[in-house]
Amino acid sequence: MRHVIIGSGPAGVVAAETLRKADPTSEITMLCGEGEPPYSRMAIPYLLTGIINEAGTYLRHDKDHYDRLNIKLVQGLARSVDTARRVVKLDSGDMPYDRLLIATGSVATRHNIPGADLPGVHNCWTLADVRAITAKAKPGARIVQMGAGFVGCIIMEGLLTQGFELTILVRSGRMVSRMINPVASGMIRRWCESKGVKILVNTQAQKITAADGVLQVTLDNGEVLPADIYLSLVGVKANTKFLAGSGIAVENGILVDDGMQTNVPGVYAAGDVAEYVDCISGKKEVNAIQPNAVDQARIAAQNMAGKNASSRGSFAFNVLDTLGLISSSFGAWQGLPGGEAAELVDEKNYRYLRLEFKDDCLVGANIVNFTNHLGVLRGLIEGKVKLGEWKQRLLHDPTQLMPAYLACAQKAA
Ligand SMILES: Cc1cc2nc3c(=O)[nH]c(=O)nc-3n(C[C@H](O)[C@H](O)[C@H](O)COP(=O)(O)OP(=O)(O)OC[C@H]3O[C@@H](n4cnc5c(N)ncnc54)[C@H](O)[C@@H]3O)c2cc1C
Repeated sequence: MRHVIIGSGPAGVVAAETLRKADPTSEITMLCGEGEPPYSRMAIPYLLTGIINEAGTYLRHDKDHYDRLNIKLVQGLARSVDTARRVVKLDSGDMPYDRLLIATGSVATRHNIPGADLPGVHNCWTLADVRAITAKAKPGARIVQMGAGFVGCIIMEGLLTQGFELTILVRSGRMVSRMINPVASGMIRRWCESKGVKILVNTQAQKITAADGVLQVTLDNGEVLPADIYLSLVGVKANTKFLAGSGIAVENGILVDDGMQTNVPGVYAAGDVAEYVDCISGKKEVNAIQPNAVDQARIAAQNMAGKNASSRGSFAFNVLDTLGLISSSFGAWQGLPGGEAAELVDEKNYRYLRLEFKDDCLVGANIVNFTNHLGVLRGLIEGKVKLGEWKQRLLHDPTQLMPAYLACAQKAA
């Protein structure tokens, strides 16, 4: 049996290892698309702050790890997939497979404005991006950053550590608007400003020009900001372009069933590239976080090896460190129709807790600076724990999460 895995991020690596365990004799080939050893994007913030070096981002540290498991790493990009002939097409030729896993993650999108392809305009998604950013680092070097989503916030600490002065443009007016609600978002903004980051809301870059090695970023209000680097962090999308014409069904991501199989038998998908049912909302979503990537990879690999594994749905669970302020959102953090909510706001101390309920269960939460509740919250929401009388108590005092967990979840365990 020939297993081919396209992608060597966390989903690809965990799938390869799971396959080897389940199927000791099969051929396993993993395609690495960036000319790097398999690494974790999640480690990029720590690389920027200097806590780790590049090797610290590698998913496995033993040089012989893949050889020992007889997992063949091939550097190269999959250009297309011919599902009728069961081959992956590379620049170097065709790679045949019996079972295929697509684990190509997301691609960072670029803000499509004049000058977006100038030297000095970057993303912060790959090791190559980090090298380009750190090459310009020196005290007082200026970054204009378009976008303040998850990645835009989590890398701030590293950028300030590198000596950059940061100006952030927030088109929507709300930082991390896809992860947390306006109250939590407002706290993050105030926090960043208190740390010396300039935040410009309801504005965006209209064009970028370059003169004498310095970028000039023209905003939609006509203001021009000089910059040494322009970071275009305007979002990501599932990395599926190379699948055009393959017959593999794609909406926001590759559609998969409970066993992570696509509509094409023998072809699986896992990780940021896959679109699968969210366990709380019941809707198909791309929940692009590493824990989901790894869970899906394990399930896909077991099925590729002929076992029978299935998922109960992905779970939206984000924990964000913005210059030391920890915020998070879980599950249906925007609430569900017909639901109820409890809220606690402490603007002065940057503390916020909002719980979303539907019927007898907690279905989502937004949090700033309440880190001691994260595990309990996840357990209550993901476990769809029936709260009974504890729902009213939590509506009254949302800090009573631990007693609620002990009373309800422990009883059910
Ligand atoms: C700065 C940063 C911080 C993050 N922090 C967190 C965090 O704190 N928590 C969290 O849960 N998530 C975090 N994430 C997101 C997390 O990194 C992703 O959810 C995770 O990497 C998904 O794993 P994956 O294997 O599905 O995709 P990826 O890690 O994106 O791996 C995709 C792989 O496919 C390869 N590839 C792509 N196209 C091709 C092709 N055509 N041919 C061959 N190979 C190809 C790529 O080179 C790569 O190796 C962060 C991301 C970034 C950028």
